[in-house]
Amino acid sequence: MDLKTHNDCRAVIAAPAGNLEKLRIAAAYGADEIYFGGADFNLRSQAGNFSEDDILKGLSFCGERGIATTFLLNSFLHENDIDAARRYINEIRRFPFDALMISDPGMLELIRESGIETPIHLSTQMSTLNHLAVKFWQRLGIQRIVLGREISLGEIQGIRDHTDAEIEVFAHGSLCISYSGRCLLSRYLTGRDANLGSCTHPCRWRYALVEEKRPGSHFEVIEHARGTEILSSKDLRLIEKVPAYIEAGVNAFKIEGRMKSLYYTANTTRIYKHAVRTRGDAYARFLPFWEKELDLVSHRPYTDNLFNEFNGSEFSGIPYIKKALFIGYSVSQGRDATGAYIRVFNPLRENDVIDAIYPIDGETVRDSTLTVKSISDDGTGVQMAQPGKIYHVEFDKAIDTNAILRRQIPYTTGERQC
Ligand code: SF4
Repeated sequence: MDLKTHNDCRAVIAAPAGNLEKLRIAAAYGADEIYFGGADFNLRSQAGNFSEDDILKGLSFCGERGIATTFLLNSFLHENDIDAARRYINEIRRFPFDALMISDPGMLELIRESGIETPIHLSTQMSTLNHLAVKFWQRLGIQRIVLGREISLGEIQGIRDHTDAEIEVFAHGSLCISYSGRCLLSRYLTGRDANLGSCTHPCRWRYALVEEKRPGSHFEVIEHARGTEILSSKDLRLIEKVPAYIEAGVNAFKIEGRMKSLYYTANTTRIYKHAVRTRGDAYARFLPFWEKELDLVSHRPYTDNLFNEFNGSEFSGIPYIKKALFIGYSVSQGRDATGAYIRVFNPLRENDVIDAIYPIDGETVRDSTLTVKSISDDGTGVQMAQPGKIYHVEFDKAIDTNAILRRQIPYTTGERQC
């Protein structure tokens, strides 16, 4: 994507796609760029990830809509990974990605060796925190640098004063206790290496105390009603500070979460897209709405502090907060304006009252509350729509394609994300 200078204040939103379905929704909900990984060498081996067929479909879908694609090659290479990485780069060289994201300089060497000229973005994993480091990577031909998560706003301004490099920062999503995502906890406890894309998130597990002579007896360490998560950090939410980050010279805001739900992808993407396009008084006017919507995706308590004022308070004693259940989304228009074919992710019943959310167009928020009038499965009326299928659903009001449906629920805490 051809970015203008920071003075144009035209920052873009880079949204995650764990699979093709999420890519399509991210595009519909306002992503300027979408990042995803393939079969290997990216840092989310547990995400759906893209087959070669998915990659072709995703590139075509984004290409038709002017949305840039970033392909992730951001895992770290061990010596015995090099031949496989070289082969993999040759396999993906035919795909016209707009950018490749790397962490390991060895991967950069392999891309250069292959002759691929796709612009390269540098992952946050490389902990770039100062303008000298930015210039170093620029000299090596890196087009965009995703700064380390530990950087402060003032430091970003300092970097911008010295360079014209494209700068990206994390705007929203999970943080963790590790420095720039580099951590051995998962590998140590489970044999699955975070730096090879297989983190099992043990920092978010609940821990108990065991006395060495009583190995079977677990003494609960009580931090709150559900146990304790002393290593679990809060989640990032920069929504209040977006104008300050744009002013500091940030070109791109990344939304974390390839493993998170389609609803999360849609709602966070539309909110941050709306925020970067909103100026002046309107920003303060929309802020409560954005905060309310970001509160309705499951999250740990939020922080806008990327550890740069670390005082220990960014670790969270509260597990995931969940205030809405993702019901499904409209894959196509139904027989009339009040009907739609809904792909269902959680049960939906007659007379349910649910929210429909939509991409935000200019200043217009089209979200509405709908009541389910009837549900049919292949022409047969049913009382309840089950997850995993597509149903024709009639509502009391009009519904459009790409509406995302959710049910607001009493405040709960838990581990599942929606
Ligand atoms: S175990 Fe936790 S701290 Fe370590 S990389 Fe995974 S999420 Fe981050």
